Amino acid sequence: MKRACLCCGRLFTPRANVPEQQYCSRRICQNARRQRWRKQKLASDADYKANQYDAQRRWCEKNPDYWKHYRASHPAYRRRNRQQQSERNKKRTLARVVTESLIAKRYASKDQSDIISGIYRMVPVEGAMIAKSDAYLVKLNLITGSYPQGP
Ligand SMILES: [Zn+2]
Repeated sequence: MKRACLCCGRLFTPRANVPEQQYCSRRICQNARRQRWRKQKLASDADYKANQYDAQRRWCEKNPDYWKHYRASHPAYRRRNRQQQSERNKKRTLARVVTESLIAKRYASKDQSDIISGIYRMVPVEGAMIAKSDAYLVKLNLITGSYPQGP
């Protein structure tokens, strides 16, 4: 019986020896299947993750110039990386400004009346921490809120 491939959606007949087959045999779909398997394995198997990390580190030690050469010979890759880093930097700066202004307001006013009450979504900012504290830097996105009532 035919079924739809999870990757490309085309109908295919599962191989007799793989009755649960969910991906067709096209190379791109088999690559997607392996990529998904690997992602799940990395998330669920700490030993596998550590082994992969070690193997990758050893490979990098044997091929120290690989990425340097790759970047030099792939200008589009370099441009994309640069742009993505720039976006991350902008987001990080914005999150820092928002958090610092909320912290400043909190300490500046006794009754905190100038803070908009409401429900916030805390978005962790990757790799960023407030200096000299163990608090993670987060971005607060207001979901619902109201301005405080006047006296
Ligand atoms: Zn497919």
